[in-house]
Amino acid sequence: MARQILTPDNDFLKTLTILHVEDDPDIHIRLNYFLKRHVKTLLTAMDGEEGLKMFQQQQPDIIITDILMPTMDGLTMTKAIRDLDMDIPIIVTTAYNDEEFFLRSIDLGIDRYVLKPTDPKILFRALTHCAGTLWRRREKEQANRYVRFILDIQPNLLLVVDNGQLEYINQAFLNFLGFESLEAFLNSEVQLENLILTRDGTPLSVQGDPDGSWLMSLLATAGEHRVVYLRATDKKQVQAIPFAVTFNSLPELKKHLFSFSDITHLEQEKLQLEEQAFTDSLTGTCNRARLQGVLNTELRRAHRHEMPLSIIMCDIDHFKRVNDVYGHQAGDDVLRQVATLMAANIRAEDILARWGGEEFMIVSPLNDLENMRLVAEKLRSIIASTPFPAVGQLTCSFGVAQRKPDDTIRDLTERADKALYAAKTGGRNRVEFAL
Ligand code: GH3
Ligand code: MG
Ligand code: MG
Repeated sequence: MARQILTPDNDFLKTLTILHVEDDPDIHIRLNYFLKRHVKTLLTAMDGEEGLKMFQQQQPDIIITDILMPTMDGLTMTKAIRDLDMDIPIIVTTAYNDEEFFLRSIDLGIDRYVLKPTDPKILFRALTHCAGTLWRRREKEQANRYVRFILDIQPNLLLVVDNGQLEYINQAFLNFLGFESLEAFLNSEVQLENLILTRDGTPLSVQGDPDGSWLMSLLATAGEHRVVYLRATDKKQVQAIPFAVTFNSLPELKKHLFSFSDITHLEQEKLQLEEQAFTDSLTGTCNRARLQGVLNTELRRAHRHEMPLSIIMCDIDHFKRVNDVYGHQAGDDVLRQVATLMAANIRAEDILARWGGEEFMIVSPLNDLENMRLVAEKLRSIIASTPFPAVGQLTCSFGVAQRKPDDTIRDLTERADKALYAAKTGGRNRVEFAL
């Protein structure tokens, strides 16, 4: 079925309110009789001053005005009306046809002229022309309102960029930024590009090459990483929130539509999963997988800067007996307690991990062998003198090793393991180190 295309016609004119300003009572009577048949409401005024007042009070759709009138002439009134409304169609009925007059009226944005004496048919043509303009403008406004309505009901944060300039941000975006309206946002000092951050926390405004606009950075970010962080302007909210960003382009209109969806919950879940994947569930320390990563990073860093790096291997003495005598549950409690004790007695930058079974490792960036030996000795002494509620007294053996140039992770851990073995064979509850 063919779509019905609406056009402005006489029916549309019949929905409009017209203001007719004319001081001559005879013309008034004649034209008003004619106009009344074609419009919804006809307002009349006898001079410019009255016309202006009527315009302000009644907000007509179209104005027809004479020029020469007492109190305030038609062009002065038109100027005053134009200052209030740039768009209202104005028809002038005039006996003038000199150049000076036309130039002035062009400046005032008059839409149509009808020469006096006024022929109703010509006036009607001018009216339908103005009604058509009005109709198209209203159609466009309605379409715009509709588009904005659709943008505003979306839960995602939407940003429309027109030819490199911010054109529209939807209600969800305004809410996020803490603004009541688009006007309030546009009139504020807030620059959107300073609030959109890349993953490393840099605002888009300072990203990339200085010639590229922030929009280019946003396009690149949306295309490549697809995650940006938005900082709310609200002072209380210092945290930047992660958003997945996608965009669509309308090249023929030079418009881009960016859509930001909050992925905080996904990021949190991801962090939780990472946390779970890298944590030993029994003791809460790093697990072996995480330890591998830590060793990798720290050993490389230490090699690069030629800085010391030391590790401690710790193994609970006769732990099998603990299980055998007091049960597996008591054994677990001991493992937890030993981990807690060690964690409480190392530096924040040291990393404690469960190596496996009843063995732990401490990785200590910047500590040399002697320092590390002292740390191990301190831990040994604390554990040996701490009562363990489930099992009584307990001891641990320690093996210490320091990074050598060109060490692999395996080289380093093997030396620590050897030292630990030496501590075991040397009688347990001891610290040994590898040279
Ligand atoms: P040593 O002094 O030579 O280290 O003797 P040990 O008994 O501590 O060493 P061994 O390697 O013979 O025994 C380790 C025990 O640790 C055996 C194993 O059942 C126990 N174990 C390993 N993981 C866990 C755990 O998660 N919970 C409990 N309760 N026991 C564990
Ligand atoms: Mg043991
Ligand atoms: Mg063991």
